[in-house]
Amino acid sequence: MEHDFSRIKAFAFDVDGVMTDGGILCDLEGELYRTFDSKDGFAIRMAAMNGYLLSIITGGRSASIRARAHSLLIPDADVYLSSRRKAEDFDDFCKRHSLDPSEVMFFGDDVPDIEVFRRCGIGVCPSDGAPDAIAAAHIVSDFPGGRGCVRDMLEKVMKQQGRWIFDSMLYSRMY
Ligand SMILES: [Mg+2]
Repeated sequence: MEHDFSRIKAFAFDVDGVMTDGGILCDLEGELYRTFDSKDGFAIRMAAMNGYLLSIITGGRSASIRARAHSLLIPDADVYLSSRRKAEDFDDFCKRHSLDPSEVMFFGDDVPDIEVFRRCGIGVCPSDGAPDAIAAAHIVSDFPGGRGCVRDMLEKVMKQQGRWIFDSMLYSRMY
């Protein structure tokens, strides 16, 4: 089934299990390490370059998430770390940018994301999301978290809108 993405103006992401495969490496000091997917990252930069608004809403609190967001051209103000009520942070993101919630595609993989699925325009869950999140999502990706889910959906939305446009000059200036 071909979905209608014409209303989508913004993308918001959970981190663990969406932008990563969910794995977390913990060292003796309690520092946490995550692996991000470079092809997901390129698609997120493509979205930034082509004028989409971007946000991260995560329960995680590592400074490295902010650093990754920065490299993906996601503005610091739109990165919500330690989010305990994701729906409230989602509402805040929409309000600050005068977005209607229906204009936002949100990616989540677990129970805390379900409240956001209920308000956003299109809720996407990776193929390996928690069963409750899969059941609540509007779209279940063919790809798992951290392994192509974000890339696949962003590419689909932007291509359908005719906005999957790579400008190497702009890319070199922004990134
Ligand atoms: Mg998650």
